Amino acid sequence: MTENTGYEVVVVGGGAAGLSAALVLGRSRRRTLVVDAGEPRNAPSAHMQGYLSRDGMSPAAFLAVGRREIARYGVELVRDRVVDATREDADRGGGGGGDFSVVLAGGRTVRARQLVVATGLEDELPPVPGLAERFGRDVLHCPYCHGWESRDLPTGVLATSVLSVHQALMVTRWSKDVRLFLHEVGESELTDQDLRRLAAAGVTVVPGEVAEVVVTDDRLTGVRLAGGAPGGGSFHAREVLYAAPRAVPRNDLLVRLGAELRETPFGSYPVIDERGLTSVPGLWAAGNASGFAEQVVNAASRGYRAGAAINAELLMADLDESAP
Ligand SMILES: Cc1cc2nc3c(=O)[nH]c(=O)nc-3n(C[C@H](O)[C@H](O)[C@H](O)COP(=O)(O)OP(=O)(O)OC[C@H]3O[C@@H](n4cnc5c(N)ncnc54)[C@H](O)[C@@H]3O)c2cc1C
Repeated sequence: MTENTGYEVVVVGGGAAGLSAALVLGRSRRRTLVVDAGEPRNAPSAHMQGYLSRDGMSPAAFLAVGRREIARYGVELVRDRVVDATREDADRGGGGGGDFSVVLAGGRTVRARQLVVATGLEDELPPVPGLAERFGRDVLHCPYCHGWESRDLPTGVLATSVLSVHQALMVTRWSKDVRLFLHEVGESELTDQDLRRLAAAGVTVVPGEVAEVVVTDDRLTGVRLAGGAPGGGSFHAREVLYAAPRAVPRNDLLVRLGAELRETPFGSYPVIDERGLTSVPGLWAAGNASGFAEQVVNAASRGYRAGAAINAELLMADLDESAP
């Protein structure tokens, strides 16, 4: 049965984006519920870097502070997963967007006038044995998140597409000992410009498939190439390996609600305006649910912006409805 709880806003996802939206909504005295499944993207990492004033904090501690802050303003947070949502016409929903019914895995169905999707994305790692287990520790994807901490170490880059050339070049800002393992990329796919840049940056290009990541005493010690080809079976000592996970946006709810999506090389994300409003009235997206490249500070900023815009939307809708 649908609860008549009178939420003005439901926020799906309690990461940086969702909590930040909830904070501004709570402070604006909006009755807000956050539903969070508790699987933030950066959970595998012990530290969160590059967030001014929070640099080096643990991701879990950061979110715990955020949860305490929203509670101060009466925002409710439940640990659950939203599995479905529908929207009725705005005219029937009291204005300001729509009348959303939001179904939680735990069995509750709640209503809201506005819905924020801040569900983040999932990282699907290349299927190399041993790789996924090390993600966020010494198998890395983002030099801005981990480059400083792994500076000057023997570094590898696992190529899963020609875009990995860019990753290898970027990584040379932090280490001068970089090997690009071509893995899924043929030598002939590298352009002359790629080869010139790689040579100028001092990157060693290693053809052949990587068969496994080698770990000793709970530390990455290198990679082993597949046998067969010249150099096959050889071991390359490395302490850090960059890889590019495939981004899988958590966009199910946006799809169900009919939001327009745009295709990118990193998955399908909603078309949003500068405030985060999707093509569906009352439906907002923030953080990694709205784009691949959002770091924590950007995700928080996006959430804040959406929260403030929602407050204004609701106010104007109510004024229009009550105006003589
Ligand atoms: C290994 C790693 C390390 C990183 N390190 C850094 C770093 O040092 N600095 C930095 O700035 N960025 C870092 N990032 C990027 C950072 O993780 C993201 O920028 C950030 O998590 C985006 O915040 P978000 O709120 O959009 O999504 P998330 O933090 O992923 O939060 C989304 C939340 O929504 C929940 N959720 C999803 N679907 C549902 C549903 N249907 N119902 C209810 N809840 C749901 C999830 O469980 C999760 O709790 C790192 C990423 C990775 C993978």
